Amino acid sequence: MLLVEDDDRMAQALATALTRRGHTVRRVVRAAEALRHAREAEFVLLDLGLPDLDGLDLLRKLRTVCDLPLIVVTARSEERDVLQGLRAGADDYVVKPFRMAELIARIDTVRRRTSSALPSSEQAEGERRVRTGDVAIDLAARTVTVDGAAVRLTRREFDVLALLAAQPGDVRSREEILDRIWGDAFLASSRSLDVHVAGIRAKTGRAALVRTIRGYGYQLGTLDGA
Ligand code: CA
Repeated sequence: MLLVEDDDRMAQALATALTRRGHTVRRVVRAAEALRHAREAEFVLLDLGLPDLDGLDLLRKLRTVCDLPLIVVTARSEERDVLQGLRAGADDYVVKPFRMAELIARIDTVRRRTSSALPSSEQAEGERRVRTGDVAIDLAARTVTVDGAAVRLTRREFDVLALLAAQPGDVRSREEILDRIWGDAFLASSRSLDVHVAGIRAKTGRAALVRTIRGYGYQLGTLDGA
C-alpha cells in the first residue's frame, strides 16, 4: 500500500489503521517518491495537496506507467476536483474529514473489484469481441478500437463498457452496474458512473456507443453500420 500524504498526523493515523488491517504501508511525502515506488505497490492512497506537484498531475503521470487501484484522499471537496480525479483514472475518492471505517470499506471494495474485473462467467460465455459500427471491443484483450485506431480507456471505463458489451442488447440498471463494477452503490460511485460513461463517450468520439435509458440505466448503443 503506497500512501502519498504530506500531512504527518494524517499519514500516521492512516498508517496505523491500515497496518492493523494487515496492509504493509509505505508512506511517501513527495510526488517524485510516489512515482519511484508506484510499481512496487498494490494499491495507492493519494492526497491531492502535495508539496512538489499537484496530486491530479501526479495521478495522470501514475496512470501512464501503471494501472494500480487508486483512491484519492482529498480535502478538496469541490466537485470539479473530484470529477477531474475520476476522469484521470482514480477508482474512487474520499473527502477529508472522513471516517476511517468508510475509507477501509472503500479500499476493500476497490480491491475486490480490481482483482476480478468482470465475473468469469460473463467472460466465458458468448462473443469475446463485440462490434458496433466502427467500434470494436475485445473483452478478453480489454482493448477498444474506433475506426481501427486504439482508444485508451481507464480500467473502470473499460469495465463499464465491457459489462454493457458482454450481452449486447441487454439494458443494465444503474444499480446493477454500480454493484457489479464498484461493489456497492456508494453515493460517490453513483457520480462515478456518470463520469465514466461521459469518459467512454468522449474518448471514443462515439456518444451513441453508450445509450442512456432515462431513469433506469444504460445499454450498448447500436451504431450505424453495425
Ligand atoms: Ca496534503
